[in-house]
Formats: sequence, structure tokens, C-alpha cells
Amino acid sequence: MKVVERLIDFSRDRHVLCGACRQRFLVDLAWVDRWERGHERCTGCGLTCEHENAPRVTVDHDDPALDDDCARMYWYHTSTQPDWPTRDFDPAANLTPETRSMMGGEVRVAAWESRQQAKALHVGTFEAAVYNMLRRIGDQADRGYQFYLYRVRLIPSVIVRKDWLLDPSNFVGDVVLEEVCPPGVDVARYLNYHEDPGGLSLALGRDAIASVQRVAVPIPASGDDAWARESLAALEIASNTVVPTTERLRRFLRPSSPQAVLSRELAAALADGLPVNLREQFASAAAFDQGDNLAQWARRTRGLFDLIDDPEGALAALDRQESRLV
Ligand SMILES: [Zn+2]
Repeated sequence: MKVVERLIDFSRDRHVLCGACRQRFLVDLAWVDRWERGHERCTGCGLTCEHENAPRVTVDHDDPALDDDCARMYWYHTSTQPDWPTRDFDPAANLTPETRSMMGGEVRVAAWESRQQAKALHVGTFEAAVYNMLRRIGDQADRGYQFYLYRVRLIPSVIVRKDWLLDPSNFVGDVVLEEVCPPGVDVARYLNYHEDPGGLSLALGRDAIASVQRVAVPIPASGDDAWARESLAALEIASNTVVPTTERLRRFLRPSSPQAVLSRELAAALADGLPVNLREQFASAAAFDQGDNLAQWARRTRGLFDLIDDPEGALAALDRQESRLV
């Protein structure tokens, strides 16, 4: 069976549906950005985003993922796990005796473990996978970890739940598989509000996945990466000495070295070239921590930018990878 690569377009217009007047309309990302700040209104009834039934992004009726044969297309996932989707996943494997005791003892740990194992896996569009990774790198918890981009093929015979659900995870990603996939169903589609807003993702079990291909992020640049080279040269000249600030200023600002300030400016200039809904996530993912290796920072920052600016490069890198059967 031929698997289809969908068009990747981080900047595409989004469909919006008003819960109050049912008006459906097409907007660009700049509109979504203004609307989230309360500066836009429903074109039908004039509601702003503060209202409970205000317009929200919704599914595009022409989205190919609405086709019941979701297995005909590639899906994506980003993870810090080098062997995702991990077989015999043991979430309690790395818990120390102290943590186990803090969690309330072995019975509690076992209950927690089975809840973790009942969780659905998630795959989505390329755009959603990249957004998810940026958000996780930007959050301090996953900072510094190696990330992997996975391209996923589903088992051709998977049974897909009819229609689609509203994002059941609300950003945390915790969905119990049985709650969204009743017996006889392998895959449930859901509407994303945050990661690739308006796009459809899938909640599924490991058994629904046939194979994966994997590349480590950042994907090495294929040619001369002038941006990384020139940024590195500029950062090496800048001082890494933290400039002392007065006590009053220190309370508001973390003291920065000229290097950290320059890295912020370099990343901000790159971010300006991205779709508006990704700029903030990109800038925080590209934040420079005092003591970071300069060359690594430049490569990583450019690599994250390229995933959005030139997805074809990532697809070509995935094409070169062997498929791993799951
Ligand atoms: Zn309305």
C-alpha cells in the first residue's frame, strides 16, 4: 500500500467555528493571534475570545485525515525516547525507593503504573509534532534532552472511530486509550487546539503502529550552514561575563552576559521569519543558558528553525532511514 505524505504548511489558513451563532469562517494565523489577545470578533455575532461560546479553530472539511483510511498517510511524533513506541514500557523503572515511598508505597505505585500504561499514544501532523517538541524544549523539564522526530506508518487494517473528538487531552496528553477507543476501534481522531491548531491528531495504542522511521533533532545541515557559522563567530567574540546589575534591576531581570543577549537577538531575528503562532515557542526553545556550548546552541537553533522553514529537508532525512517494525 502506498503511503501518502500530506502537504506540510505551517502557515495555512484555519477554519473557525463560532459556538454561539454557528458562523464558520476562514482566517489566517495573524487573525488567530489577534483573536487570542481579545482583539478580534466573530464575523457573525461579534463575540470575542473571552466568551464561553466564542469562535474556536475547527476541522477543515477537506482535511484528508477525515478519510476513514488514516493508514494511507504518514503520521508524526516527537519524543525523547530513542525507541518510541517502547515495547513493554515500564513507567516505574526509574523510580527510586524514595520516590516510591513518597508516592504512598508499592500498591499506589502499581496503580499509577497501570494508569500510565493505559494511556493512549499520540501521533499527528508533521506540524503538530514539531510544535509539541518546541513546547517541550521551551519548558524547562525537557530542556537539554535529545529529541527524535518519528514518521509513523499505521497497520493498514486499523479500525478508525467515526468522526472526530474535541481535543480530549487539553495540552497534557493524558488520554486513557479505552475511553476514546471503545472495543473494536483502534484509532480515534481528535481536533487539536494548540499544536497545529485545527489539525487532526490520532490517539491510538501501540498495536495500531506498523513501523517507524526516526531522525535525531537537530538534523545535520546538508550544505554549508552560513547562519550557524556566522552566529558562532559572533558569539565567540561576545563576552560571556555576566554584567553586574544593580540590586533593584536584579529583582526584575536575570543577569545576562553579552553572549546571552546576542543569542536572544539572533534567535529573535530567526523567529521573525516564522509563522506568528510559533514565534514565542521557538524563542523559548532557542533560549541560551549560561554555559551552553556555543556551537551546539547555533546548530540546535538553526536545526529547529529548519524543521519549520524547510520540512523537505527533514523528509529527505527520514527517507534515508530504515523502517523499524513495531
Ligand atoms: Zn458568532
